[in-house]
Amino acid sequence: MNATPFWGPDFDQLAQLDPQMADLLLRELGRLRSGLQLIASENFTSPAVLAALGSTLSNKYAEGYPGKRYYGGCEVVDEVERLGIERAKALFGADHANLQPHSGASANIAVYGAFLQPGDTVLAMALPHGGHLTHGAKVSFSGKWFNAVHYGVNRETEDIDYDQMRDLAREHKPKMIIAGGSAIPRLIDFAAFRAVADEVGAILMVDAAHFIGLVAGKAIPSPVPYADVVTFTTHKVLRGPRGGMIVCKAEHAAAIDKAVFPMMQGGPLMHGVAAKAVNLAECATPEYQAYARQVIANSQALTSTLASHGLRPTTGGTDTHLALLDLQGVGVTGIDAEQRCGEAGIVLNKNAIPFDPAPPSIASGIRVGTPSVTTQGMGVPEVQHIGDLIARAVLSTSSEERVAIRHEVDALVARFPAYPRG
Ligand SMILES: *Cc1c(COP(=O)(O)O)cnc(C)c1O
Repeated sequence: MNATPFWGPDFDQLAQLDPQMADLLLRELGRLRSGLQLIASENFTSPAVLAALGSTLSNKYAEGYPGKRYYGGCEVVDEVERLGIERAKALFGADHANLQPHSGASANIAVYGAFLQPGDTVLAMALPHGGHLTHGAKVSFSGKWFNAVHYGVNRETEDIDYDQMRDLAREHKPKMIIAGGSAIPRLIDFAAFRAVADEVGAILMVDAAHFIGLVAGKAIPSPVPYADVVTFTTHKVLRGPRGGMIVCKAEHAAAIDKAVFPMMQGGPLMHGVAAKAVNLAECATPEYQAYARQVIANSQALTSTLASHGLRPTTGGTDTHLALLDLQGVGVTGIDAEQRCGEAGIVLNKNAIPFDPAPPSIASGIRVGTPSVTTQGMGVPEVQHIGDLIARAVLSTSSEERVAIRHEVDALVARFPAYPRG
């Protein structure tokens, strides 16, 4: 079985022991290879990162931190974690880094734990305007256990309403202000958030899950100099393993470490920590910086092409890896667009647009992102072609049309394969 060169002999063993699961893993790899992946929060991590994830470090209990563990036998994983911490501090210019959060949500939970008591007030971006569940949504711990107040976007610009954010901060005196979200196509003015946080005496947390890869690649400004604490996922543009990370100012280091363990988590996933360290080394290369710039160039080209077909980008465009397209002008719902594109081999997601008249389960928009196609090596001409294909799929009226689009998708991904066969 040589379909998975980066798993090598281990995959052959799995195929013998559990052919059912081996078949599912190969099917998923086939799915990744056969369509266009435009989900803004996904990427194709490298074989080196996958190798670390598949290592025996998965076996090791290492509750605690390097040099201060609750278990013996940690001499090697101590070095692994120290290496990762040093790489994170250097890459982001941060005083302190914690690589243990299991996910972006876990990283955010830890920050609440470090700075807040239940019932305290948090000011964050509203979910329907591009925020995140963990920023005080009612269904999340953050909305159940904390008093969440939300700012949104300005109706005209569709970008963050900084005046509203400042006014709400003055009125509610939050203990913590959160900047960041899951569907913000524009750069965030971190200095403006810092000024408001200083004025009302709040901690400033930046949730950089979506855009931290662009920061790592030096393609957009960093929140690190402005924020008390920056949380992020490692699996989006950054292109590492699935997981979370926190970087913060030296004065908060002890509080953050205690909140991650033992307050919120047990033993770290050391194979994940190792894979994060591998990814951080990849991010420090000129190749990765070129990648980050190309992700944005591709996103802007894709967005312009979609706009030329009547799919309206909110805020008028994008500065980042993602765009939010309002489909009301072409009379198609988000859920129909997602479904039609899926049939055409284009994977993307429906998304609420600011002030969306439709319920979230239907939505009036779609969100598209270019991290994955850029990893595949596609550039501006290819994403312009993708824009034409998306528009055709969204506006299509028959399955035949969508099958025809799928053939064009197949031809395109054949030229830029994800995980090329060794
Ligand atoms: C993706 C994301 C998260 C959560 O990450 P998980 O790893 O899925 O828990 C948190 N915040 C923002 C802004 C995100 O985009």
